[in-house]
This record gives sequence, structure tokens and C-alpha cells, in this order.
Amino acid sequence: MSAGTSVDLRSDVETLTVEGVTVKFGAVTALSDVSFTVRPGTVHAIIGPNGAGKSTMFNVLSGVYRATAGEVRLGDTVLNGLRPHKIARLGVARAFQNIALSGTQTVAENLMLGRHALTHAGFLASGLRLPAATRESRRHHARVREIAEFVDLGDKLELPVGVLSYGDQKRVEVARALCTEPRLLLLDEPVAGMNSEETERMARAVLEIRDALGISIVLVEHDMGMVMSIADRVTVLDFGRRIADGTPAETQADHEVIRAYLGSGDDDPSDAADTSSDHKPDHEESSS
Ligand code: ADP
Ligand code: MG
Repeated sequence: MSAGTSVDLRSDVETLTVEGVTVKFGAVTALSDVSFTVRPGTVHAIIGPNGAGKSTMFNVLSGVYRATAGEVRLGDTVLNGLRPHKIARLGVARAFQNIALSGTQTVAENLMLGRHALTHAGFLASGLRLPAATRESRRHHARVREIAEFVDLGDKLELPVGVLSYGDQKRVEVARALCTEPRLLLLDEPVAGMNSEETERMARAVLEIRDALGISIVLVEHDMGMVMSIADRVTVLDFGRRIADGTPAETQADHEVIRAYLGSGDDDPSDAADTSSDHKPDHEESSS
């Protein structure tokens, strides 16, 4: 990443408060009375074994699922009950776990899609007012280039996304979210399926986003090793309940957390997609 890039610092980053959130799907309680606080400008990880409720929480935060009970607030603004596009407009951007990019379009084109939300007149309407539209389009292209350079994709802007490596594609996804100029970035398992080099690069990108943009990042993640090295705070879920909340060191030493991760075991077949090495607390020997 180029440290010299002039990225705007945001001063409007507010606390995200999750209070007593419960989500039920019929008889299944996916989340049960979960609370945590994401302080402005921090990386907050939500971790837990498979089925813990991580994706459900991610979907509640982005408005895809509605909480059965509880409240989610960004500053004083209540988010729960708002539709996803409303939440996005309040400055909450999400990058999807499964890449949702158009493979035939270039990196630049995919990133421009992220700018759409910011264009009040709309791209088509502004096409009729040529001088202003040209100015606006130039401004967007400049910003797209800046953000691409920021995540080390500056030299790949004109390549179709489909030819990029998996790690690069995942960073395009993150860059596209950044193109909406969010104050809160939601990442769902950003390193799932990555090799260790790609994982390290993503971890670096997340930290640089926090440090250079000053925005908050909520990171839903199975890979405990990655989380422990970059999160400011960690909330641990197991069977829909919050079993720990604290610094990485605190949660890593928590016996309930260790038990939850040991209990989930290596033999869980849904873990197989994750090629990165470190799912578990450091002191546990890898048995497979
Ligand atoms: P994680 O992401 O931590 O693996 P999930 O949030 O996906 O966990 O799932 C938590 C629980 O909620 C699981 O028991 C899962 O089967 C259930 N669940 C998640 N989404 C739905 C849904 N749309 N309908 C019914 N049950 C669901
Ligand atoms: Mg999940």
C-alpha cells in the first residue's frame, strides 16, 4: 500500500452498539441476547465455531436479517428494522464472504459500482448534463484509482476481475466496499480459503484501512490466528450466545473459548474450505 495516498480522514465515525440481539428462525435460536460495543476506529472481531451465529450477526448488522429482539445503533441512529440500502446509506458497507464481483468487468468497473451509491443525480441522469457529469466522473475515477492503490491493486485496474488471483479478488471486494466511503466496514470471513501469504496481505490491508481511514471494522471470522493478530477487541459466540468479550489475549486465554473451539474439532467437514492454518488457540497441538 502506498502510505502517501491522500485518503480523507473521517471524523464522523461513531460507536456501534449491539444490545441484547436475539434472532430466531422458527424453533432455532441463532442468536440469544448478544451484546457488544464497537468503538470508533477499531477492528472488532466476532469469532466462534461453525453454527455459532456469526453470519446471522453479520446479516443483522447489514439489515439482511431482522432481529427478533434487541437493538443495533450507530451513534444514536437505530439500525435494526432499516432495509439494507438504508443502512448502506448511513455509511455501513459490507464485503461479502463469497465473491460477488462481475468477473468479466475490470477492477475499475467493479469499483465504480461502489461509487453509484454516492452519485445523487444518478449516472444515467447526469449523462445528460455533460460538463458537470464529466467533472463528477473524473472525480470518481480519481477516487477509484486512489482506493485501488491503497489496497495494492493500482496496477490491476484495467484487468478483468476474473483473471485475478483469489486473494486479489477478495481485496477488490473490500476496495469496492471502501468506494462507498463507509464509516463502518463489515467483513465476512475475509481470509476464508486464502493461503498464508494472501491471509497476511489481507490482515495488513485491514490494519491499514483502520489506521489510514480511521473507520471502524467489524470482522466476522473463523480463523482465530488472523483475528488474534489484528483485532482490537474480540466477541466470541458459541451456539448463539456470547461466551467471551475482551482483548485478543483475554479471549484467547478464556477457558470457555478454548473449550468451544476444541469441541468444534478438526473433523468438522465445513472447516475444510479454510486452508489457512490456524483455527485454534496457540497452545493446542494440531492433530490432523
Ligand atoms: P456461523 O456463521 O457462526 O457458522 P450462522 O449464523 O450461519 O453461524 O448460523 C447460526 C445458527 O442459525 C445455525 O444453527 C444455523 O443453522 C441457523 N440459521 C442461520 N441462518 C438461518 C436461516 N436463514 N434459517 C434457519 N436457520 C438458520
Ligand atoms: Mg458463517
